[in-house]
Order: sequence, then structure tokens, then C-alpha cells
Amino acid sequence: MRPLLYAANWKMHLPPAEARAFAERFLALTSPVSGRSLWFFPPAVSLEGTAVALRGRPDIRVGAQDVHWEPKGAFTGATSVPLAAGAGAAGALVGHSERRHVFGETDAETGRKVQALLGAGLTALLCVGEKLDQREAGQTEAVCLRQLRAGLEGVTGGAWERVVIAYEPVWAIGTGRNATPEDAAQVHRAIQAELARLGAPGRRPVLYGGSVNAGNAAALTAQPEVDGVLVGGASLDVEGWAGIVGRG
Ligand code: PEP
Repeated sequence: MRPLLYAANWKMHLPPAEARAFAERFLALTSPVSGRSLWFFPPAVSLEGTAVALRGRPDIRVGAQDVHWEPKGAFTGATSVPLAAGAGAAGALVGHSERRHVFGETDAETGRKVQALLGAGLTALLCVGEKLDQREAGQTEAVCLRQLRAGLEGVTGGAWERVVIAYEPVWAIGTGRNATPEDAAQVHRAIQAELARLGAPGRRPVLYGGSVNAGNAAALTAQPEVDGVLVGGASLDVEGWAGIVGRG
């Protein structure tokens, strides 16, 4: 069976006690499914509790929603890669649409964050995606590939093994609208081709994200180009999330 990856982005939800309770209930509802792996991205304060609660499941990893590129220093409010790793993170999201478009993160900053993660031996889950006006102007692939090149500049050798991409059209995130499976597959093909041009030695997982739910997840992952999903809102309900990932 083709490997699939299911990632939950809890955004600014689930404080430590609720995150731990979610994790415990999730463990009770599910068991590992062959070929499926999972990531949970809790808020920073809930990272350690979630990681501890889920550590008995080798198919599950926990990551940070964002990291700073510097390892330490006077960066009030930021989480460095060593801080995240110390709390149990095996990786982090980088360049999520809300980081880019709410907090003004640049392409160059995403590249520094990816380098910081890979340099420390962690996984970088780099998010790319176009805004609605860019899609309507026919710029979808140009925008995604520009973000990809900037985010992955300088990645070499074995570090490629720790790169995961999520294609998340900005207009689909949290809106209830999503790309058709065929549209997603077309962008995923362009991303795989660019990854090969950038020197990735083999196929890297490319996830789709943007209003994925129990009703559309299977149709998206049925596309051979879609290696899994990154899910925000629908990952906050433990029963619903267990249903999406498969109960095993
Ligand atoms: C996300 O946060 O990455 C996301 C895709 O959110 P939602 O599933 O709520 O659209």
C-alpha cells in the first residue's frame, strides 16, 4: 500500500490539559495502520504534554507550528529549534499561510527556518500556496515554485530525507472551499518536478491542505500525487480526526 501521511495543525487551540486529553482519547480510538504515519502540531505550550502522551506510538510524531532560525537569544515570544526539540518536537511546520500572510514572514525567512531544522536533524514540513488573486491570474504554479525554491535553497545530501512539502492554497484554508483532487494533483506534479530540479534524490511526500474533512479526505488521497493531508479545523475533533486517519 502507498504510504500516506496525516498531519494535524491545531493552530492556536488546545491548551496543555486539553491537548493531553485529546492525545489519550486518540490513542484509545486508534491503532497504527500499516503505511500510515501521523504528525501532530500543537501550540508551543502544549508540545511537551502532547509528545509525552503520544510517545508509545512509533507511527506518530509531534512538531512545532513554527520555529525561529536562531538557536537562542533575545527573540521574545519565539521558539528556537533546540527549544522545540527539547519539548519533544521531531520537526516543525515552516511557512504556513498564516505565518506568511498574517505575520508577514518572507520567503527568505522560511529558507532560514528550514536550514535551522535540517541542520539540527529535524524534519521541515514546508508549506506553499497561492492566494486567490494569484490563482485567478494564472500564477498558481509560479508562486508555489518560487516559495519552494526559496524555502529549500541549499538543501543537500541526506537532509532531503527530512523534507516534507504541503501544498495549501491560501483561499482554501479555513474557508470550507478546497481544490478539486485533480487541481491538487496538477500542482503536486509541478512540485515534484521542481524538487527533482532542486536535487532531491527521490520522491518527497507532498501533502494537500485546505479545508480537508471527513467528506473529502479519501478523494484527495486517492490521487497518486497526493501523499497525505495537512488538516487544521477538522483535526480539532478527536472522533472526526480518528475517522479521517483510519482507526486501524
Ligand atoms: C491548516 O491549518 O494548515 C489548514 C489546512 O487548515 P484548515 O484545514 O482548517 O483549512
